[in-house]
This record gives sequence, C-alpha cells and structure tokens, in this order.
Amino acid sequence: MADGHRAIVVAFPSSPGVGATAQRMLAARSGSACWQRVVACVVREQPARQPHRLLGTASACPAAPSLISMDLRRSTPAALTSRIPTALDPSLVRPDLLDALAARLVELDASAPVGWRDAVLHSSPGDPASEQALRAVVGDLLYARGLTADVAGPDLAPYVEAWSAPDPERQEPLLLDHASFAAPETLAAQYDAIVIGSGAGGGIAAQALAESGRSVLVVERGGLPRRRDLHTDHLRTPRSGSGLFPHSGPGPEAEKREVMLGDGSWRDVLAGEGLWSNNAMTLGGGTRMYGAQAWRFGPKDLAMASTYGVPEGSSLADWPITYDELEPFYTRVEQMLGVSGGPSTDPWEGARSEQLPMGPLSRSPLGSLLAAAAERLGLGTQPVPLLINTRRRGGRAACLRCAQCVGFDCPVGARAGSHNTTLPSALETGNATLLGDAQASRIDVGPDGRARSVELVGERDGRLWHRTVRADLVVLAAGAIESARLLLDSATDQHPAGLGNAADQVGRHLQGHAYGGASALSAERVVDLRGPGVDISTADFRHGNEGIIGGGILADEFVPTPSSTQRYLRETGLVAADAPVGSPEMERAMLRLGKVVGPVQEVTSADSRVQVNRSRRDRFGRAIVRLSGSLHREDLRGRDLLSSRAADWLAEAGAVDVRPMSPMRLPTPPSGGQHQAGTCRMGTDPATSVVGPDGRVWEHPNIVVADGSTHVTNGGANPVLTIYANALRIAEGIVGVA
Ligand SMILES: Cc1cc2nc3c(=O)[nH]c(=O)nc-3n(C[C@H](O)[C@H](O)[C@H](O)COP(=O)(O)OP(=O)(O)OC[C@H]3O[C@@H](n4cnc5c(N)ncnc54)[C@H](O)[C@@H]3O)c2cc1C
Ligand code: SF4
Repeated sequence: MADGHRAIVVAFPSSPGVGATAQRMLAARSGSACWQRVVACVVREQPARQPHRLLGTASACPAAPSLISMDLRRSTPAALTSRIPTALDPSLVRPDLLDALAARLVELDASAPVGWRDAVLHSSPGDPASEQALRAVVGDLLYARGLTADVAGPDLAPYVEAWSAPDPERQEPLLLDHASFAAPETLAAQYDAIVIGSGAGGGIAAQALAESGRSVLVVERGGLPRRRDLHTDHLRTPRSGSGLFPHSGPGPEAEKREVMLGDGSWRDVLAGEGLWSNNAMTLGGGTRMYGAQAWRFGPKDLAMASTYGVPEGSSLADWPITYDELEPFYTRVEQMLGVSGGPSTDPWEGARSEQLPMGPLSRSPLGSLLAAAAERLGLGTQPVPLLINTRRRGGRAACLRCAQCVGFDCPVGARAGSHNTTLPSALETGNATLLGDAQASRIDVGPDGRARSVELVGERDGRLWHRTVRADLVVLAAGAIESARLLLDSATDQHPAGLGNAADQVGRHLQGHAYGGASALSAERVVDLRGPGVDISTADFRHGNEGIIGGGILADEFVPTPSSTQRYLRETGLVAADAPVGSPEMERAMLRLGKVVGPVQEVTSADSRVQVNRSRRDRFGRAIVRLSGSLHREDLRGRDLLSSRAADWLAEAGAVDVRPMSPMRLPTPPSGGQHQAGTCRMGTDPATSVVGPDGRVWEHPNIVVADGSTHVTNGGANPVLTIYANALRIAEGIVGVA
C-alpha cells in the first residue's frame, strides 16, 4: 500500500448486495463520498486470499483515514430479529419463533451464494423491491423444513403432515449405499469400459455394458447425500427458488462458470445460482431428484428441419435416426424402469409397440376441473406419463402420494432413477465398479485417435488424489455441459481444439427448454397436496400450431412446497406484494393456486454454446466452463403460444384470476438448466456433428457419448425418456459390434 494511504477491510460474506452494503456503511462512518468508491469483500471460503485485492482498491482512495474491521457475523442477531417481524403475519411474531428464524438465517446464509442476511439486514422500509426480497427470505426461513404445526394457520393446519418430513417407518431402504462405492486405491489398472457420469444416460449404458459381460467402471462426480437432508430440506432442493446450494450438488466448493448475460456482458456465476445451469450432480445425476415425467418424442420432433424449414439464425436439424428406430428402445425403457400413465391421446405421438406397464394415479381436484374444461374446449388429454410405480413393481414400492416429490428423495423408491434401477442392476452382474466423488478430468487419446485412458481426480481428507485408468471404451455421460467440457479440455497437439472438435461443433447447439404457462386462483380449493402433483396434460399443441415452429405439451404442475408457493404468489401478483408471510390471505391462496405449464421445443442456434476458458482452472486443474447464447425469437413465440393456451385452459376450468407468464425479451441468457442437451450433436456429417448415429465421436471411435448431449433437438416435452432410450440404443449397438 502506498504511503499515506490507509486500508479498509470489510470482512463479511460475498454476495451481489455486499458492495452496496459496504458503500452504505462506509459512507455512514466517514461522511465522505470518496468512501463510496471503495468496495471490497472477503470471500467466505477463502478469507485469507482476498485482502491484497482489497488493499489495492483502498489505496486508490486518498481519503481513507483508518483501518476499519467489521464483522457482520457478530453484529447480526439483534438487527435480524428487528427486521424479520415486519414481514410476518402478526400472529407469528413471537420471541421464540423470531430467535429460531434468526438462527436459521445465520445457518442458511453460510450455504447461500447470494446474500440472504443482506436482504434482511439492509432491506429499506418503504422500498417495494427490498420489502419483497425481505418477505421472500422470511418465507423461506419459516418453511425451510416444510410446514410445522406451530406456524400453520387454520387453513393450512390440515396439511401439516403432508408438508413435513415423511414418516421414517414408511421408508424403504435405498438399493445403493456407501458400501456400493469403491475407493480410488482399489481400482483396477484397466477396465473394458469407463462410464463417466451416473445419470440417465450413464446408468443405462453401464447396465447394458455390464450385462454383456464387460468390466465397467462408473465414475460419478457427486456422492450419496444423506437421505434425511434430501427428505426434509425444502430449500436446498434443485426446485427451490431460494438460491441455496442444493444437497444434490454441486456445493459451494464447485467451480464458477462464466456466463454471458442477456445484455452481452459476462459474469462469474456460482453453482447455487440458476444461471450456472445445474441439473444435479449426485449418484444418479438428475434422475435422483427429478419429477420423472416420461414423454416420448414423436416422429416430427426428430425431423424438425424437414417439417418446418430452418429459421434464420437457427441451427435446426433433423436427427439422423427416425422415430421407428428409437421406438423399440422407448418400449424397453418403459417396461424395464416402469412408466405409469395412459391411455395416450397424443395426436403427435408415433406408433407404440406396447402400452405402458402401469395405469395412472388418481385425479387431483385441479385435474378433474381441467379434464372437464378440456372436454368443453375440444382438447385431448391424458395422464402425464411418469417413471413412478403406481403398484409394487421391479422390487420397488408403489407411490405413497407424499407432498415432497420433485426435487426430494422418494421415501419409498417408487420413482425410478439410475440409483434404484440401472446402477443396482449393473452392480448385480458383478462386472461393474462404482466410484463416487470422483471426476474424469481428461480423456487421453493415442496417435490413432483412440482413447487409451481416463484421468481421474478427487479429494479426500482435504487432499487431492489422481489416478489414471486404462479402458478399451469410454462412455461419456456427464450431462450436456460437462460432457462438452471434458472433450474440449482433453485437447492434444494433434487435436488442439479438443477431442471430436475438428469441425468446431463440440459445445454448440446448447439448448434446454423455454417454459410457457399460466397460473390462476380459483374460488374454491383446488390443491390436495398429494404428490407427484402432475396429473393431466394435453399434447395437442406439440405441433400444428399456425405460424409456430413446434410447440409443446401442457400439464398441471408438481406438488409445490410452502416456501416456493408463497414466493410465487407474491411474484406473480396473485397475492398482494405486501401480504405478510403466513397471513390468512396467503394461506387461502396457497390452496386455491393452479398452474399449467409446458416446455417449448427450442430451435437452437450454433452460437448457443459451451466453451472452456483454458486460462482459468478450478482447484482440480480443470478449465472452467463458459456458457453463451440466447433463446431464438421462434422459441419466444412458441412460449407465448403455450402461455396463452394454458391461460385459456385454466379460465375454462373456472379460475377467477388467471395470469399467463410474462413475455420474455431477446437476447436472453443461454438456455440449458435441468433439460440441457445438444452439445455433442448426433449426425451423419462430421462437418456438422460431433458423434455419428451410433454415438461414437468422429475420429475417436472408442469414445461414445450417451447422454442428453447427443440430442439434435429436444422435443416439446421433458427429455429424459429419450435420453434413456437413446443411450440404451447406443450402448447395445456398441455391445453388438465391439
Ligand atoms: C429437479 C429436477 C426435475 C426434473 N424433472 C424431469 C422430468 O420430470 N422429466 C424429465 O424428462 N427430466 C427431468 N429432469 C431432467 C433430467 O433429470 C435430465 O434430463 C437427465 O437426468 C439428464 O440425463 P443425462 O444422462 O444427460 O445427465 P445427468 O443425469 O445430469 O447425469 C450426468 C452425471 O454426470 C456427473 N458428472 C459430470 N461431470 C462429471 C465428470 N467429469 N466425471 C464424473 N461424473 C461427472 C454428474 O454429477 C451427473 O451425475 C429434472 C431434473 C431435475 C434436477
Ligand atoms: S409422491 Fe413422489 S416422492 Fe412421494 S412417494 Fe410418490 S413418487 Fe415418491
């Protein structure tokens, strides 16, 4: 620091709001405008590393008069307990509850990438946005573990049991536990196949390979989180809007991603933020926590370019395989894993060789109203197909209809995912080894382009470990963003742009699903809080929409959590923005809220992409991800169409206050998220694709991609059944010819 300058150290958790807080506090102390230029923070997980940056900033301020050290952690409780009551219904303002909420805030803030405590401490009375943020946080604090008897008003009291942790007596054991994991030092030097990622694609590929007699190592970046956390925590689930790191990973230790925002600027994004585009990083990947909607793509979904032409600025293309080629694998997956639902009236679905193995669950009150309304509107409807047992099947129980479904662990294993179907089957063969908490950091290829080994890295007792394991076959199933990352970060002198990337295609055509829909309040209660919640759908708008490219299904929503419902009601304006948390008005609205939503088929573009920044590496030495691109204007038109059809449907069902989703403006941040796909496009031409129809990476015939990355387009419906079916097709193709 230069002579005459003095340092300012502001030590408290980093967050977007921290700069503003620092400015306010420093200006108040010094009365000098110059202080307002000083913004510095010490990042929670690396307190020792930041001060030099901070001193640099401080030295730019000639007026800096003294060294000030502030630690917000020590000064918060009183301030917290004075702000929290302003957001609560008066009946909840009790000293015991306030203390409990303040303590919970301190605990949760430690797991938040965005500043929770800031939102409470520095909310400005009278500023609507700030008051809104305060109510959102206080609502999350109140319902962090569901609904408890001490906070439920008379309307919600009958639902306390539904919205709290499932009874341990009724739980069924997981089919995999920590004993199923191998330790890194016990790995063999060589396997027939290494499968990278244990999600939808990886699990089913591992099963097919292990059942063919091959020795298989499945490497999974995530671990096996505690079931208690996955059952009881309403905020650290991937469906919560709270911004906390989900238990299903990745956690605060995860690397940042560089993301291009809608205005063209770039920002470093933490894993708990939506823009990071997380699915889930845990044993089973997304299938551990997903909602399990199990839609087939139809013939037109696989032939979008020939059906609609290619709009300007889009990279729309046909799949290199037809529906008829995929159909047998759809049927196999439906029968193997167990899909319930039917009968289907989907006019855009292809022929089926077998009906679904299980019938649907019973109708919800909202479902019955929507069914009658659809009949009046002339819409076809069907139960939402679900990878959920409606009767005991495959050694797994039937659905209990609990209220903690999507985003939570299924207490009885009725919801099928890799962790309770394909991975246990793979292990049962005796040919598969499962390695958790380990990342594939590089695929090493020889001069002939063939993969020779995979470099693995992990951390144990605070120390990094590394292993290199040889394999005859590498199956890449790390999810659309991470699979592209691994190919790009495995560059060699011979493949300087990354593996399979001679034509600059790896990472391009990133897509997910823009969602359209509407919400509404009905005069009567329409919610029964029985999971899974998704019940009725129409597939009429998947195609055939005048002037629109593609379209999508519409369905009612998964069973919500109390905290997300209150946030949502306020954000949509269905309840007054100043309605206190837990007020009678809010509680009544929670039981009258109906939602209909659906994913729209995106037309995607080559500029929507995953890249890596090789000059920035995470603590494992891996290049960090850069995400860029935007939805296409056609995606927004499709989304608006779905929103208006959803609003019509809810209105016909008798809703009194209907709100279609607000329109979006271009450019948007890149699309990806839970339905991420497309980054290793499947095709017949190496100039425009990354893998052939058999999933093999061009120029690297023993590297195969078997996850959502291969999707050329992502359908107007949830993608996972297609990921399973296509991965099974690819894996069995390999088994047949290898
Ligand atoms: C809350 C939620 C609800 C959802 N609901 C639905 C639904 O109702 N219907 C539907 O169709 N889809 C749904 N999805 C999406 C669905 O889960 C995904 O489409 C699907 O899991 C993607 O499969 P995948 O094989 O491409 O990748 P994933 O399932 O994401 O699996 C990839 C795995 O690879 C691991 N990994 C990443 N990098 C590495 C590495 N370098 N080394 C080792 N391992 C690595 C990850 O940790 C992850 O476990 C939902 C997802 C979530 C989170
Ligand atoms: S509602 Fe969902 S989580 Fe609950 S038992 Fe049924 S499938 Fe499992």
